[in-house]
Amino acid sequence: MDRKSNAELLDLGGKGAIVTGGAVGIGRSICYRLAEAGASVMIADIDLDEASKTIEKIRARGGKAQVIRADASSVEDANRAIEATAKAFGSLDILVNNAGVYPTCPALDTTEKLWDKVLSINLKGTFFYSQAAAREMIKQAKGGRIINLASIDGLHPHVEVAHYGASKGGVVMLTRDLALEFAPYQILVNAIAPGSIMTKGVEQERIAREAAGKTTQELMDEFVRRLPLGRPGFPDDIAKVVLFLASPAADYVTGTVIPVDGGYLLS
Ligand code: NAD
Repeated sequence: MDRKSNAELLDLGGKGAIVTGGAVGIGRSICYRLAEAGASVMIADIDLDEASKTIEKIRARGGKAQVIRADASSVEDANRAIEATAKAFGSLDILVNNAGVYPTCPALDTTEKLWDKVLSINLKGTFFYSQAAAREMIKQAKGGRIINLASIDGLHPHVEVAHYGASKGGVVMLTRDLALEFAPYQILVNAIAPGSIMTKGVEQERIAREAAGKTTQELMDEFVRRLPLGRPGFPDDIAKVVLFLASPAADYVTGTVIPVDGGYLLS
């Protein structure tokens, strides 16, 4: 086998990538890292204003990016977004299933509507985007990468997140099943399980909880106190690991779930 230099190992030049929910938060940082490594990046999101700001920033730094409005819970949108990415960039090589929602709710109060929303975006979306991407990658016959955003809540129980934990536990198993099924096509499927990462979504959830009379700060402080690495995570902590999984450096890695959680699961 040829031995690549370190720079070549992280080079994504000529690759076409799609990141669901790439407008803000973790997804935005992922887009920045992939574009900086040379990939052309399609942001598939429902928030076109924020997505436009993100692509402007990528372009200002000399990267290539486009945006498509696509709801992760819609199979039709998933097929359309994958097709548009392959067409725009001439190749679809990397899918990052990042779009996700995490409204907390006690199990006794969880409605069918909330359950369906969370499962549709987080789990159904991940499956059907992966299916559409794999079909395209198999057609291209040069392999590919699928990277899923799971969560430590898919590996470890927590209160008021049963619906979310079930969706992310589903993403964990989906990652392993699809890794096995797509391996003959050299499509590598891996997941990252973030701990608590400071994003707009986390901030909005804090505001919503406080408006409902629930304190979140104490929970957050307790969470951070438990962290062996002693600090909360930032979006780029996750994006760097996505870059690795998308790159030639990870070309013998499939079916893994990597916790990126400051050591939370050890505590
Ligand atoms: P965020 O709320 O900050 O951003 C989510 C992005 O997804 C936004 O751009 C939003 O517009 C988009 N989005 C929401 N619903 C969508 C839909 N139906 N279709 C398409 N796009 C949609 O979220 P984040 O904190 O950056 O989290 C990103 C991923 O990481 C999620 O899957 C989340 O579950 C996972 N995660 C986050 C944390 C954390 O602490 N932030 C921890 C573990 C896992």
